[in-house]
Order: sequence, then structure tokens, then C-alpha cells
Amino acid sequence: TMSDISIILADGTCLDSSSTSSRENFGNKRPDIINGLKELSAIIHSDKQLLDLITRKYEIKNTVGYSLNALIDFNDPINMLTHLLVGSEGTLGFVTSVTYNSVDDHPHKATALVPFASNHMAAKGVQALHKVGVSAAEFMERKALAKVEHLPAMAAFKHILGENSPAVLIEIMADSDQKLNLEINAAIKAMQKIGTLSTPDFTKDPNIQSGLWDIRKGMFASVGAIRPKGSLMLTEDLAVPIDRLADVVDDLRFLLDKHQYHEGVIFGHALAGNLHFQMHGDFTQESELRRFADLGADLSDLISIKYKGSLKAEHGTGRAIAPFVEAEWGKKAYEIMHQIKQLLDPQNILNPGVLLNDNKNAHIQNTKHMVTSDDLVDLCVECGVCEPVCPSAGFTLTPRQRIAVNREQAHLENSGENNRLLSELNFGFSSAVMDTCAGCSLCATLCPIGIDTGAMVLNKRSQQTSSLSKRIAALAAANTPLVENISKIALSSLRLLPSDLSKNLPTPPQKPKRGEINHQDKSKDVIYFPACPSRIFGAAKTSLDLLPLTKAMPILLKRAGFNPILPNKTQGLCCGQPFVSKGFPKEAKQVGEKLGVALNEIKNNRQIKIITDASTCAKHMNQNDLQTIDSVEFLLKEVVPRLEHIRPIENLAVHLNCASKTTKGSSHTKTLAQICSKNIAVLNSVTCCGYAGDKGIFQPKLNAHALRFAAIDLPENCKIGISTVSTCAIGLTKHLQIPFVSLASILEYVSRSKS
Ligand code: SF4
Ligand code: SF4
Repeated sequence: TMSDISIILADGTCLDSSSTSSRENFGNKRPDIINGLKELSAIIHSDKQLLDLITRKYEIKNTVGYSLNALIDFNDPINMLTHLLVGSEGTLGFVTSVTYNSVDDHPHKATALVPFASNHMAAKGVQALHKVGVSAAEFMERKALAKVEHLPAMAAFKHILGENSPAVLIEIMADSDQKLNLEINAAIKAMQKIGTLSTPDFTKDPNIQSGLWDIRKGMFASVGAIRPKGSLMLTEDLAVPIDRLADVVDDLRFLLDKHQYHEGVIFGHALAGNLHFQMHGDFTQESELRRFADLGADLSDLISIKYKGSLKAEHGTGRAIAPFVEAEWGKKAYEIMHQIKQLLDPQNILNPGVLLNDNKNAHIQNTKHMVTSDDLVDLCVECGVCEPVCPSAGFTLTPRQRIAVNREQAHLENSGENNRLLSELNFGFSSAVMDTCAGCSLCATLCPIGIDTGAMVLNKRSQQTSSLSKRIAALAAANTPLVENISKIALSSLRLLPSDLSKNLPTPPQKPKRGEINHQDKSKDVIYFPACPSRIFGAAKTSLDLLPLTKAMPILLKRAGFNPILPNKTQGLCCGQPFVSKGFPKEAKQVGEKLGVALNEIKNNRQIKIITDASTCAKHMNQNDLQTIDSVEFLLKEVVPRLEHIRPIENLAVHLNCASKTTKGSSHTKTLAQICSKNIAVLNSVTCCGYAGDKGIFQPKLNAHALRFAAIDLPENCKIGISTVSTCAIGLTKHLQIPFVSLASILEYVSRSKS
């Protein structure tokens, strides 16, 4: 819920609800609003029927029209005003900041997917769960479950489900394990009384829990990913009293089928009687608009009139539901809403037509068209779910905005309707879309449809490379040893300069030495490939007597009884990742193949594990069939168990690199860090650090922006940190003012013998 809000009204009047003086000023400046709200509240209180209607409407979730509950829940007109702003969709004022009250996220959680014989049984089960107080009960009708049967977690349920069996995903949270167990027992008993298709099996295992939640989250993707490109994803929601849940699911399914939305799926937050349903439509076709309009009219009758529910429960009214607000609320309440708008925006300049609209066809006019612009992102529904992880969000663009810009360019190119805007977009594209995307692919990890905007950017980079840059890339790919040498010389020269950049460059790395092949016990042979960032960039200076990564790795491997074998000449060997990120996939393949030859030469048809020491390179090598283990995983699983002793350091900051997040290697990094240090501080506010190979050098502001909150995660007593990529470590060292080194260097240090 909202704690405080700052707003600017249509005439420029400001209000900060957290400030006493601002509230007083507002009262003095705008007595018309204060008195107007008091009058509206008095009108409602003097009309029992209206008062009862408003009270009843907010017993369930409701976001249709203005939040009339503000006029009955509060006596202070300023509180009425600030709560009217909630859900007003920019039609009453501009919200400059909001402070929320948060709810506890308890550490102890249990999750179960429980199939029921019918929608009615499931609804009864949800009502019983409501009484025992579970945290979540997500309903999924059978047709929706059918769309996600390919997900691994569904394997255990597929054979149990009948033709019409829905399932409910239940989550219970508690502040102690003891309480959690009590609540699990209560939930099981409650459901057993109703009858379930299988015995509820609650899991506390986070991995299994996440698999079960994938089923629920997969609903969105199931419709989003199968829809024809260029069509819109239609996501609706509604709420009814919880005891009507089963009836409304059956009626809703009937309506979807009646209007030929057979692909639609129904699911939702059953504890709140809140259902979502999704389907698709191509609003460039008149017939599709008609079909949608007919469904809307039937829905309004069903939900607002028959069930006395809410046509929107979470999503907001918008233009789509504006024509149905009066039908749901009735004349009197609708008139109050118009008076609210008149009071706060008398000239109707704020989002006119949104939320209140007397045009009964407003929902099928001026509809959005999903222009196809790039195969890799055409299925994007512009939901924005991907935005929070993007390092460039708030600096240049988010993934959603990159896609939207690309679509607008395609639209303007095809239509020729605004060439000036097209040239402005083309002008800004290079910096905002191309240069400041870190290519981290973290957006794909959140996107419900799995869209990787980074892949779109990389693809465009490869299409836009000039013939000169192609020649340079080809030259570089053919002469990687020379490029490595030049890079090292350039970095050494930079280190001599009295610049900001030189201050933050790490000390030069030590040249890795080739291992001895142990012919006595070949089973202990492993290939260690020191990646180019580790060979070129070196490590930050620390107060500990640490070895650089390329030296620490072979020592650790030997200490654990392995025989590390390095390629004969590492100089110039590269997996190709830097070429891919610059838009040269052909050259990347060329250098990657050279590395493959060098590694195969060592393998000589034997099965030997290949380890590399930069998680980005490990990910790239695996994507290109060079089966490689990230050094962190190997150290954790194979080296640590063979070390004689480990004396952990006190504190360690931990940066989880984006490659490790996309390959689920983060848990290895965290576990190994916990072995090396008594206290670890994970930099949770960092998604991708934005250093992205060499972007930290050429786009330093992206790196600074991506790390702007990192200091919050750093305890004062933490004087050293780790990162699993040497280049990321450079940016972290610069911005957090403590040295970031490799985890291997720390592990080597803490596992040295006392002598
Ligand atoms: S790319 Fe982003 S905006 Fe587009 S569908 Fe995926 S999460 Fe939504
Ligand atoms: S790849 Fe990374 S930087 Fe690029 S859009 Fe996706 S999240 Fe943002």
C-alpha cells in the first residue's frame, strides 16, 4: 500500500503528502479542491445506497474508474486526494514520487501444486485455504495447464489430471520453520476435507519451488509465444467474490469459446477472486476489432452485472474499459467520478479519454498495432517485465524501449508519414540502442517469452559494420597473438599516464606456464585455458599476498591433485566472444575454431575436462560446442573437497557476473565465496555491471550508472571483493574503491599450508 506520494496538479500546484508544511500550503492555495472533496464525500455519506455500493465494491479488488473508497475511508481531504491519485492513470495529476509500505518476505516457504477434480472443487479448496491463511493460491484451469505441459515440473502431474481438472499452486510463508510446518499441516487438512486428485506434497526446496512457479509464470508465455507475429497480446483481469470463483471460470470459458478465443487461458490469484485471461488479436483487421468489442460487451454483462464483480482488478481501466465504467458503477457513482475529474482537471488536459470516456467505441478505436521489425523481438508484448535488470535503464534505454524504437523506425520507414521523426530516431539509435546495450542478455532471463534484446542488438551490430571495420576485424582475427601483444603494450603505456583510467588499471598479469603432463596418472589431467581478459588485464593490488588468477589456478589445481595442462602457446588464443559482442560473428567463429584445434591437440582423443577462468568465456565456449567448465564450478565441486584446509578471510564482497546469472552459475560463485569467507556481501543491487568487455573503457558512464547503487550493498568492514571476470573487476574496483580480484586468487590464499 501507499505510504506517501508527491504530485503536481494540472495547474502546477504541488503536494508532498509526507510534509506537514506542504499539506498546509496546499490547503491554503487550493481551498476549492479541499472543499470540493469534502462536498463529494458528504454526498456519498448522505446516500446509503451509494455508500453501500462503494463499500461492497471494495470488498474485492477493483480498479474500475476512480478510487471512490478514498472519499469514504478518510476524513482529511488531503488523504482523500492522495488516495484518489492511486490508479488514476495520470488523469488527475502527475505523480513525481511514491513511498510504499512493504510486506514481509518471510524466509521460510513451502510450495505445492495441487490438482482438483473440477473447477468447483478447486474453488472450495481455495476458500478453505483462505480460512487457514496461506500466502498465495494461484488457480490454473485445465486448458491453461495443457499449454505448459512441456515444463519439467508438470511431469509429475500430467497423468493425474483429468479432462477438466484444474490445479492450484499454493505458497505458505512463515517466520520460522516450526510455524511453517504447522501451517502446512493446517493447509493439508483443509484440502483433504474437500478432496484433491493427489495428496498435497509441499516442498521447501527452492529449486523445486522455482520449477513449480515456472508453471504459473509460463501461462503468459504460452499465449505470448504462440501468437502470430504482428498480433496483440490481450491480457485481461477481473475479480468476483471468492465464493463465485468456480462459476465465473465456467462462464468465462463459455464466453471465450463463444467468441472464438479458443487459445485463451484462464488463471489467477484465486485467494482474491482475481482471474486473468489472455488471448491474442490482430487489430489491423476490422473483424478482429468487432470480435473483441462483442466479447467486451458480454464480459461487462457477466462480470459487472451478473456477478457484481470488477471488470478490472489489478490492471487499471485505461481506454479499454472506460466505455464500461458506468455500466459497472451505475449513474450516481459515475457522476461522482466526473465531478472528481472536473474538480482536479477542469480543462480536461490530463490523459483525456482515459478512465472516463463517453464514446462507447473508445476501446476499439486508435488501437495499438504491433509492427513487425525484427524476427528476434517481434513477439515482444511491450510489458516491461525485462526492464529492472537492464544496466542501461535510466541511462539510455531499456530493452522494451529498444524494441519500441526499432518498431517505430520500421513503421515510419514503411509508411513514410514522418521523415523528420525517422531521422531523429535514426540519429539517436546508435548511442541509445546499439552502443549502450551491454549485450548481457539479462533481459531474456526475466522476459516471459524469453526475448533477448541483446541478441537483437548484436545482430544489428553485425549488419551495420562498415567494410573498413570488417577488414580490421578480419585482420585482428587472423593475428590474435599480435592483437594480444598490442593490447598489453597499450595497457602498460596507459598505466604510466597520470589519468583517472590509469589509476584503476590492474597490475599486469603473469604469463601462465604450461603444465607438466603427468604420464603416471592421466586421469588427473585437466586442461586449463586462461581466457584473454585474465591474460591481458591482470588484477588489482590488495593488502593480501594474493597471486594473480592465471598463476593461482594452476597452483590450486595441483594442490588438489590435478595435473593442469595449458595450451602450448596461449598468446592469441581466444574463444571469439569479444568479436561476437562487436558484431563480427564470422571472425568469432574463425578464432573460436583455432582455440578448438589447440584444445583438441592437447586432448588427443582423450576425455579431458576443459576449464576456463572467465564466466563469459565459459558460457560462449559452451554455446559453441567447446564443452567447457567454468573455473568457479570446477573449483567448488572438484578442488575444494580435495584441499587439506581452508582458513576463510573475514569479509568478502561478491559480484555475480551476468554470464553466471544466465547460466545459473551464480549459486556456485556464492557457495565458493562462502567457503572462502566468513561473511559475504553479495552486490544484489548490481544486475550487469555494464563493463561488458571493453565498454567500461569506451562507455564509462554506462559502467558508472550500472554500479550507482552498489555501495549500498558493501558493509564498511569489507575491504576486498571478487568477480568472476577480470574486466568486470576493473570497473568494480574503480567505483567501489576496494580491490576486486578473482575467486581463485582468494581460494589459493585461504588454502595455503601454514608453513
Ligand atoms: S522483451 Fe521485455 S517488454 Fe518485450 S515481452 Fe519480453 S519482458 Fe516484455
Ligand atoms: S542485453 Fe543487457 S543491456 Fe542489452 S537490453 Fe538486454 S538487459 Fe539491457
